[in-house]
Amino acid sequence: IKHLVWLRNDLRWADNPALYHASQQGYIAVLFTITETQWQEHKESDAKTGLRFGLMRSLCKSLAGLGIPVHFIIEDRFSALPNAIHDFCIKHQIQHLWFNEELPTHERKRDQAVHSQLTQNNIACHIEDADLIVAKPVFSQQQTPFKVFTPYFKRWLDLLSQQDPTPLPAPEPQSTPLPETTLPAHPDHSHREDLWPADQTIARQKLWQFCHHKEKHYHEDRDYPAQPATSTLSPYLALGALGPRQCLEAIHYTCRQEDKPWQDSVWLKELAWRDFYRQLMVHFPSLSKGCPFKPETNALNWRHNQAEIDAWQQGKTGFPIVDAAMRQLNQTGWMHNRLRMITASFFCKLMFADWRHGEAYFMSKLIDGEYAANNGGWQWSASTGCDAAPYFRVFNPIRQSETYDKQGEFIRRFVPELTALDNKSIHNPTTQQRQDCQYPMPILDYKPARAAAIAAFDALKGLK
Ligand code: FAD
Repeated sequence: IKHLVWLRNDLRWADNPALYHASQQGYIAVLFTITETQWQEHKESDAKTGLRFGLMRSLCKSLAGLGIPVHFIIEDRFSALPNAIHDFCIKHQIQHLWFNEELPTHERKRDQAVHSQLTQNNIACHIEDADLIVAKPVFSQQQTPFKVFTPYFKRWLDLLSQQDPTPLPAPEPQSTPLPETTLPAHPDHSHREDLWPADQTIARQKLWQFCHHKEKHYHEDRDYPAQPATSTLSPYLALGALGPRQCLEAIHYTCRQEDKPWQDSVWLKELAWRDFYRQLMVHFPSLSKGCPFKPETNALNWRHNQAEIDAWQQGKTGFPIVDAAMRQLNQTGWMHNRLRMITASFFCKLMFADWRHGEAYFMSKLIDGEYAANNGGWQWSASTGCDAAPYFRVFNPIRQSETYDKQGEFIRRFVPELTALDNKSIHNPTTQQRQDCQYPMPILDYKPARAAAIAAFDALKGLK
């Protein structure tokens, strides 16, 4: 072998630039690196690691079919990889290492270290773009990064319209099929295989079905958690079983069928948020170190009430929509976007708990946990972030519930003790109903909690 392709969070054979371009150069092999301690340190959830291993297993099968051999390196942490990959390349006389760029801080450091160790030893590194829809830097006219989404999105669309949207094909078979490489033994991790089968072909089918049937209603239905109106593709995008440009291709196709400009797709705009938060991490590295985007919010004196935090984590706050949402997260590893906003706002504003604890809990449970999107979502909710919710915007969980889960359908799905309640009281049961249903009393009182949060932010103004 001359060319080695190192796959990480890009676990797909189609539209994989590193894999495709390497395959155009000659005979290739694929390398997976397993770094479980590092993943745990990143708080990667059991569900996400479970899906990761499942996708690797399914890739081993597909790659064997294409005659592409697969190798594994197992180390605890990223820091061991430069030596390990170097030794592997020497042993197998590899002259070129190919990989797709990853933007989070630790991943970038890892890749820089691998790059420098290999190039010093005359092994070339080829780095491709796979993870953003618009790979070029999206800068303002002053050549600075955008801090506000709307102008970023406008520029992003401009650049996108100049870009070839066609995703890359899978590599051609390079020999007759090989025996399938089995995954090395590893601790058990489980994810909801019924909801997210570990198979990129199924992920692509889900994408096309979504675009075919639901994309056109997305802008109206996406806020209602009882409806299957969003794509639920985030776990596949997080691990790269689907590439964002494959989503773009499906959007182009669907919009053409419906005779509407692809630029108007509201779903595309959500994918632009994904790009936006990713590029922020690169331009503002302090975001990856637990710092708020707005430094003045460091002066906020967050409360730490462990009993409230426990109740929130377990879905026992006594606010049915919050509890249903947290139980959805705990049971499936995924939570609807509207509910992520409601539960995060509840945590940071009403409980006035430090958003970093909420962020970490989400990460430890989410099957789609991604540093950039999760940090972006939490800082948005806590009003500490870039282009965040204004600080006086404090979601009222009962109003949100009445608006977005009018019939209590979603609540009934995840809080079965409330199933028998009528559509009105299910959003905020009476004391008697709570006792009858063995459902907890609310852990806090909305009005004073809201007022206290706003007062704490108001007090910051003097510090600016
Ligand atoms: P769809 O509505 O179908 O959107 C399509 C894709 O666009 C998603 O799969 C996702 O990749 C991307 N996307 C959508 N909304 C956003 C957004 N606001 N920011 C960034 N990307 C977005 N998303 C994650 O992928 N990982 C996270 O760890 C994560 N944590 C979040 C934490 C909080 C507090 C909040 C408010 C949001 C978070 N999000 C996160 C964003 C969003 O909630 C999820 O991407 C979305 O719910 C996934 O469901 P879907 O695939 O059905 O999304």
